[in-house]
Amino acid sequence: MVEKILKHIYFLRHTEEYHYKARILVFTHSYILALGLISLSAHLILGIHKQEMPFWIFLCIFAFLILEASLRIQNLEKLMTFSSAILSIYSFIVVPIGIYISGSITTPSSLYVMVVVGMVALLGTGRINTIRLLFILVVCLSFIVIESFFPQLILTYASHHNNDMVDWIFSFLLFLIFVFAFISKVRVLIEENEYNLMVQKEMLQKLSMIDPLTELFNKRWLDETFDRLMSQLNRKNSNFIVITIDIDHFKKYNDTYGHIQGDKCLKDLAAILIHSVNRASDNVIRTGGEEFILLLENTDYDGGVKIVKNIRRNLANAAIEHKNSDVKPILTISMGLTVIGKEQSTLPIKDILHYSDAALYKAKESGRDQCCGYDGDKFWEIAGGTQQR
Ligand code: GH3
Ligand code: MG
Ligand code: MG
Repeated sequence: MVEKILKHIYFLRHTEEYHYKARILVFTHSYILALGLISLSAHLILGIHKQEMPFWIFLCIFAFLILEASLRIQNLEKLMTFSSAILSIYSFIVVPIGIYISGSITTPSSLYVMVVVGMVALLGTGRINTIRLLFILVVCLSFIVIESFFPQLILTYASHHNNDMVDWIFSFLLFLIFVFAFISKVRVLIEENEYNLMVQKEMLQKLSMIDPLTELFNKRWLDETFDRLMSQLNRKNSNFIVITIDIDHFKKYNDTYGHIQGDKCLKDLAAILIHSVNRASDNVIRTGGEEFILLLENTDYDGGVKIVKNIRRNLANAAIEHKNSDVKPILTISMGLTVIGKEQSTLPIKDILHYSDAALYKAKESGRDQCCGYDGDKFWEIAGGTQQR
């Protein structure tokens, strides 16, 4: 079981929210078991307060069964319901029965009550908040006050407690558990908080790499991914393809149909680009304005050409009207493609993007609505032009 708890705690260190919440609950049950075991041992070793023994034995067995059961519950919601039910049983049934059976409150009772109330209120399924802390403080203070001013009220129940020194040691032990529990609980909450902050940070980071209009990746994402891909080139023997895309006469499109329709057109093109790629490692990026980049990981030249043809076919099928275009009465795009292999791995990113930019420029120059290739040495037409490689 110890192994199970450790596994649980280890697991909880870095995974989902479920584990953090589950950890708090499992911790609560472990705490109650530890409290029972320590009290039982103290009673056995010191051979005192025999009237309380049945209660402590009962508490240990009960807490052990509850801990075993709670470790078996995988569903967080069920675990929460189970735990709050058990905690109610502890506070309303087990503790009063214990006090009844033993016929006592250990002196100094203020400490004992502090432990019981603290255990139930603080280690419950909820969080520490000001009201809970105030509640514990008020209950503890009132017991200390009652005990100081009206000792007979409480001490009448403690007739069999006659060894003040032992009682103090025993109470001090309980108090230590309480302090330990409090610190651990706070630590768990801090961890939970850190975890939430980490999740938020990751989310913000992801959002900062997404273009809000088209929901494609943006230039920042491209820069980061490029670094990773370039370092992979040296280790793996695989190429990747960069295709730069620019809409033909988009200024005229905006002038003809307005900026809002222009934005819608960008979204439609983004959907067409996404639809034209096949693999999860084919990335579509909006680098700005009406310019896009396709980054096809682990893809050779033929694979890149296939994607270019897919895009051209899907765009032609969509037939988005662009009546004032100098090319055709429908929306067209120009593309520039370059293959990045091991030989290029030492080039700076902007040089590689410069290759596909140069190829795009060539496509524009050669009449638009086509795709050209460039390898740093020569240009060639890939699709839409007259001559093929
Ligand atoms: P070319 O065929 O040479 O590419 O001609 P072009 O008119 O497309 O020229 P260019 O690429 O320089 O035009 C960019 C135009 O794209 C300018 C602007 O009107 C439009 N544009 C850029 N960003 C946005 C945007 O976010 N929304 C809309 N609606 N239009 C944009
Ligand atoms: Mg442009
Ligand atoms: Mg353009």
